[in-house]
Amino acid sequence: MGTELISNLLEIYTAEDPMAFAHPDGDPWADFREVMRVEWKVDFTYKHVLGKYSKFFIELANHKFLTTECPNCGKVWGIPRPLCSDCMTITKWKELPGTGTMVSYSISNFVPAFMKVETPYVLAMVKMDGADTLFTHQLRNYGDIENIKMNMPVKVAYATEPVVHPMLLMHFEPA
Ligand SMILES: [Zn+2]
Repeated sequence: MGTELISNLLEIYTAEDPMAFAHPDGDPWADFREVMRVEWKVDFTYKHVLGKYSKFFIELANHKFLTTECPNCGKVWGIPRPLCSDCMTITKWKELPGTGTMVSYSISNFVPAFMKVETPYVLAMVKMDGADTLFTHQLRNYGDIENIKMNMPVKVAYATEPVVHPMLLMHFEPA
């Protein structure tokens, strides 16, 4: 009996102290450097209900960008909200032109494998024209990474191929 009981065991190895320069008296984690690596196949299937947000995704499939507007205080929520967070009034759907200004962004060169996206992955925070709050989604089709600038005009682009989640029905691209 022993580790042969672990059918998906890949290896057991001794990791080096990555900060040896900071440990002149020896590795304080020496007792914990023995590392087991296993292959772990994970396959989850979710049934995911989009609830009160469903109309947003249904209309994305129709190439329309919806948000919600508060009939009481007039605030337009860039990411739709069924309830106005400012005055607790039930909102109404409102179509926007799908254009806006990228007010912030982050560029990820490493993403978790499960995301199955190409890197660099650019996440844009966009002030949509006609909305009072920001909307966050991926920026694509920007060409060279040097083209990405603060306050650049962007627009919603709609998927033309089948997608695995309605969230992928849109992305941003330079306007
Ligand atoms: Zn309100």
